[in-house]
Amino acid sequence: MQTALADFIRSSPAGREADAILRSCVHCGFCLPACPTYQLLGDELDSPRGRIYLMKQLLEGEPVTARTQLHLDRCLTCRACESACPSGVRYGRLLDIGRALVEERVPRTAPARVERYLLRRIVPYTRRMRALLGIAGAVRPLLPRALRARVPSGTAAAGPLRAQRPPAWPTPRHARRVVLLEGCVQPALAAGINPAAAQVLDRIGIAAVRVAGGGCCGALSHHLSAHRESLAQMRRNVDALWPHVAAGAESVVFAASACAAMVCDYGGLLKDDPAYAARAERISALAQDISQLLAANAAALRAALAEAIAAAPPAARTSLRVAFQAPCTLQHALRATGVVEPLLTAAGFTLTPVTDGGRCCGSAGTYSLLQPELATRLLRAKVAALEAGAPQLIATANIGCLAHLRSGTTLPVHHWIELLAARLDGG
Ligand code: SF4
Ligand code: SF4
Repeated sequence: MQTALADFIRSSPAGREADAILRSCVHCGFCLPACPTYQLLGDELDSPRGRIYLMKQLLEGEPVTARTQLHLDRCLTCRACESACPSGVRYGRLLDIGRALVEERVPRTAPARVERYLLRRIVPYTRRMRALLGIAGAVRPLLPRALRARVPSGTAAAGPLRAQRPPAWPTPRHARRVVLLEGCVQPALAAGINPAAAQVLDRIGIAAVRVAGGGCCGALSHHLSAHRESLAQMRRNVDALWPHVAAGAESVVFAASACAAMVCDYGGLLKDDPAYAARAERISALAQDISQLLAANAAALRAALAEAIAAAPPAARTSLRVAFQAPCTLQHALRATGVVEPLLTAAGFTLTPVTDGGRCCGSAGTYSLLQPELATRLLRAKVAALEAGAPQLIATANIGCLAHLRSGTTLPVHHWIELLAARLDGG
């Protein structure tokens, strides 16, 4: 694509990056069928190609309007278009740059500004989220149905794992060590997931070390175009992780695929900060989702699972039918498609078929709160696809998807690592 970027951006690092991305798009349209918003709305401007065109206009200095902002806001940042694109267009990075510019030029209404500010001030902080969930839990019966479904009731994890307490974090006892960054929302919404990941790693001879001083990966603020804030969160995490990396941790691991995807981008996002660039790049190179680490150690995991299944009482060996929802961050950002499923099969679960598995569930960070109508339509389609094979429970790999899916189904929804931990525990 030919471009003629405007003076205000042409020579800046962001401008050069955006220009290179725009030029790599050949306008073929192969990405359109993969785009959930284009499929729902049928408007070219709600497709990847249309949004790229809008961002080209913006970067070339043409007027930006609320309509530009609307079409960019409606993007889920699912990056399914990147997986479908034969030219390797880095759409997600272009969207980051485009959204930040639109944010500067098109003022939002006061209620919208307050909503986005509150999301940034509450969600990335575990204690604040816990407090909010505590209040919401107390008034849960009074909440509207849609909101009620999002608030854990204490039995939100009802189903096969209901009676189990969150597992304890194992004391590090192995020479092989990884760092596990626990994140922000996950410990507040589903406190058992990170300890379950640490337990599974412990069983295959890898110690998962907790990180003091870490926190939100920065994704929430980043996707709300609060880039200065998200960069501060990234720097804080680099400072917290670095002593472990310098001491020989072999990997930086996450039990939330969205956080893993974000930290994989630290190197690129902090590349112009001389105090952090080298460390951020190293941390990005080591960052991975728990599924990727376990797939690389599949032989040890299979042996541990086989031993646990053989030792379990016959009643605990029954094969539950599980529908696995692969989050977009796992598929399209980390390109780890088909990694989790064989691990669940090795643990004795029977996977049910899921059609259109590449399609976003509508969670997409804060999207389900900011674009509730589209998010609900996507949720309904996703739940129908997941339930079509008559599973007994749904498994996923990301906390945002987990919470969103729970609001749309009566089936229990768990992180898949909890299923593996339960299996290794004789459950
Ligand atoms: S983003 Fe890729 S698939 Fe979509 S129009 Fe451009 S080159 Fe084609
Ligand atoms: S990121 Fe997802 S919603 Fe946005 S343009 Fe690409 S496919 Fe469509």
